[in-house]
Amino acid sequence: MSQTCYYEILGVSRNATEGEIKKAYRQMALKYHPDRNPGDKEAEQKFKDCAEAYEVLRDPEKRELYDRYGHSGLNNMGGGHPFASAEDIFSHFSDIFGDIFGFSMGGGAGRQNRPQQGASLRYNQKLSFRQAAKGDSIKISIPRKENCCECGGSGAKPGTSPEVCSQCGGVGQIVRSQGFFQLAVPCPHCRGKGQIIAQRCPACTGEGQVEQVRELSVKVPAGVDSGARLRLRGEGEAGINGGPSGDLYVDLYVEEDDIFGRDGQDLLLSRDVSFPDAALGVNISIPTLDEDAELEIPKGTQSGTVLRLAGRGLPYPNSQRRGDLLVQITVHTPTSLSKRQIELLREFQELEQNKPAQKFKKFIKEAGKAMGI
Ligand SMILES: [Zn+2]
Ligand SMILES: [Zn+2]
Repeated sequence: MSQTCYYEILGVSRNATEGEIKKAYRQMALKYHPDRNPGDKEAEQKFKDCAEAYEVLRDPEKRELYDRYGHSGLNNMGGGHPFASAEDIFSHFSDIFGDIFGFSMGGGAGRQNRPQQGASLRYNQKLSFRQAAKGDSIKISIPRKENCCECGGSGAKPGTSPEVCSQCGGVGQIVRSQGFFQLAVPCPHCRGKGQIIAQRCPACTGEGQVEQVRELSVKVPAGVDSGARLRLRGEGEAGINGGPSGDLYVDLYVEEDDIFGRDGQDLLLSRDVSFPDAALGVNISIPTLDEDAELEIPKGTQSGTVLRLAGRGLPYPNSQRRGDLLVQITVHTPTSLSKRQIELLREFQELEQNKPAQKFKKFIKEAGKAMGI
């Protein structure tokens, strides 16, 4: 397994956009495609490498893991290698090129009766900050094409079955001669399907599929952030001619919270403390994702200090680890003072100016200078 940086393989910068990554992959894959480089082992390896890199960088969740932990971050996702088999690379390759270039990886051109995977669907889901922090099981309703249960997806009226096309013998394509060339084209009689439906199923008007609204339960792992994408295998549209169903992708959008800010898996909070509290030290109560916690403000805390409560941030999705809770302290300068407070502060001010310690330090410093130390 190669361990070269995925960004280097695709020749993009670390902050490349999704579009840039896709474009780079497309160029690389075309250049190193085995059909264009027959027998070239090096090109084949490069083709596999860039498919692997793209598989990771196109997926926001995998990309984040990779950015944070490198290759080892992905190994922990289970499976290790992003592709289960070489076939996956090609299925994936045809995903991106299939529509654009009309490539067909395996399966004859023009044949429309081969099994085809159903379309994948995308769904946007908004989550409250707390739902995302704690994880939740949400219900979503998606309209999708499913195999018609009246005819079992055949499109023929129940009790009848589709007949093999007499023109093409069920192959779905016929061969035409054009000068020297022989060209396989979709059979016009059955429109490439290889079969003729004499009596259409009334439920799906012969399509074999009907649109259904399905309610699905989706488990959101605790700690997800906006941009995370969940993949529900096989929950997309039904496949055609017995092909597998597509997948459903749920893109998550997490709302902001009234109390906490967020930086990755760290929670951010700001708190004001009074000047005497900061000078003398104090314990304050702060909210966390769970019950309130006590935070010790050490004596002499300066404004802007960030105090950290380890392990009280957001969980890393599908992990036992948690981020931290960072509390930024602002020392509050009082603006309306009572007469007594003014008196005390004046006294404090005088003491501060005539501090023996200060005087002593100053003396030492000057004495040192005089003696050339
Ligand atoms: Zn039907
Ligand atoms: Zn036909």
